[in-house]
Amino acid sequence: MQRKEFGLGDVVEMKKAHPCGTNAWKVIRMGMDIRIKCTGCEHSVLLPRMRFEQKLKKVLTSAESEGN
Ligand SMILES: [Zn+2]
Repeated sequence: MQRKEFGLGDVVEMKKAHPCGTNAWKVIRMGMDIRIKCTGCEHSVLLPRMRFEQKLKKVLTSAESEGN
């Protein structure tokens, strides 16, 4: 299985889009729980790390690689 790499500030795509129609979420908190914010309507959701990894489809933009 492929390991998904993600970090603080990354914009990710989830398996399900937000009801507002946007499917781009910014990671705004890392830890035991991951907090992501919808880039469309600014709604934020807190997910246990395991649930987040299950729902994560792909990383759209990595904050780290962009900074370099
Ligand atoms: Zn939204």
